[in-house]
Amino acid sequence: MQKPLIAGNWKMHTTVHEGAELVLKLREFIKSTDSIDVVLAPPFTSIQHISHLVADSGIELAGQNVFWKEDGAYTGEISAQMLRAIGCSYVIIGHSERRALFGDTDDRVNKKAHAAVKAGLKPIICVGETLEEKEAGRTLSKVKGQIMRALAGLKTGSLRELTIAYEPIWAIGTGQSATPETAEEVHNSIRELLYEDYDTSAAKKIRIIYGGSVKADNIDSLMAMPNIDGALVGGASLKAEDFARIVQFESA
Ligand code: PEP
Repeated sequence: MQKPLIAGNWKMHTTVHEGAELVLKLREFIKSTDSIDVVLAPPFTSIQHISHLVADSGIELAGQNVFWKEDGAYTGEISAQMLRAIGCSYVIIGHSERRALFGDTDDRVNKKAHAAVKAGLKPIICVGETLEEKEAGRTLSKVKGQIMRALAGLKTGSLRELTIAYEPIWAIGTGQSATPETAEEVHNSIRELLYEDYDTSAAKKIRIIYGGSVKADNIDSLMAMPNIDGALVGGASLKAEDFARIVQFESA
């Protein structure tokens, strides 16, 4: 089994100075990263500076997005190689905000996943249903479809470095987290899908993390579920004390 993964998505928050302050506080609060993978996804403008501040801490860095081309006339875009070069080892792909606001279709998510793997970045692929889809009983079909299209054409070997983030859209930034039991049910179905489509040892190593209003006071019960391998945290990752508590969740 892989270690649990707790990732903080800072979204479009923090200047480079604010980000540096946040990381320095976090380093004070986080006692050890021996038994957990801790990943921060600051805005692009802060990544390089923060990479110096997390050196030797065990904290790793992620891009919040990536473009699938290596280089060229693509104004405003960032390649996987560029992210690697400034110290990222992970990249978040297909976050619901990118899907809803910036045209990230399943096909684009798939291209980005291929580009990330090729450059040696570990993709964190986000999937999740809207409230309307949940109420219509379409959670599993939505999520499974997104995963199959995101992973199309990726070789089994590269899947070991993959993380799926189940993020119900109705839970993101709303303060209304899925219950541990509801999240576990979806994670369990995702695990079954992975077992059906990939060999057992690869499927076992894929981490399935939960995102959507994860806080210091609900992380312990979420992490007590057998198929919840970590969390993708938005709002609470901007508060050093809260994020450190999430990272140092108490296992059942
Ligand atoms: C997110 O944006 O990935 C997220 C989970 O946000 P929040 O924790 O604020 O709901």
